[in-house]
Amino acid sequence: MRLRNIPGSREIIAENPFVVPEGEPIRGHWKKRFGNENPVHIEIGMGKGRFLITLAEKNPNINYVGIERYSSVLLRALQKMEENPLPNLLFLRMDAETLEDIFEKEEVSKIYLNFSDPWPKDRHAKRRLTSRTFLARYDKILKSEGRLEFKTDNRELFDFSVEELAAAGWKAESISYDLHNDPILMKDNIMTEYEERFSSMGNPICKYSIYRERKVHERKDKKSEIEKD
Ligand code: SAM
Repeated sequence: MRLRNIPGSREIIAENPFVVPEGEPIRGHWKKRFGNENPVHIEIGMGKGRFLITLAEKNPNINYVGIERYSSVLLRALQKMEENPLPNLLFLRMDAETLEDIFEKEEVSKIYLNFSDPWPKDRHAKRRLTSRTFLARYDKILKSEGRLEFKTDNRELFDFSVEELAAAGWKAESISYDLHNDPILMKDNIMTEYEERFSSMGNPICKYSIYRERKVHERKDKKSEIEKD
């Protein structure tokens, strides 16, 4: 989503109370920042923020962080927040490449990716937010039992994303190639701006929920060691 560049948006964002300023030493301090012990869930590439704002309204006991690269896009989310401020939602204007500077090991309990940019050229595969390169970054910041959910209408990107899982040590808990016709997965579905647009054009929506296979084994191994002792 590349909205028209809005002059001054960077400055407006820098002063907004819902945005964590660039350079603030926030890594390892999210709970303190929110003023509670609640889990932290993040959306990367949140666009205009409707998905995360709806989640934050529905779940006051979860802290949400929305990450967006472009100031002009983030500004739209801030306008919505001004009408309806939420204490459990904060935003960051940043590129997800530097996630590990912002979140400590296992500081995040859930990651959402919605309608991520496809980067169709092979030489740009590493930039896809579901590539093994990014999965390795999520591996560092996500709790061992944490889940990552991804939705897209782009079947090529989705097939690529499913293929990346095994190489990166992740496993699918659920996969749907037609989310909107899956009554179980649709039960708690929250539509994003892009989802509404593409599903109204008749495009099937794909979704997976994934976890780290290795981390689950590590936990089981630890448990059996404790049982042996
Ligand atoms: N998630 C929203 C939705 O479903 O309606 C927006 C989808 S839009 C296609 C993708 C968004 O991700 C854009 O706003 C883009 O700027 C942002 N984005 C893409 N790559 C990013 C990155 N590496 N770091 C942060 N934001 C990114």
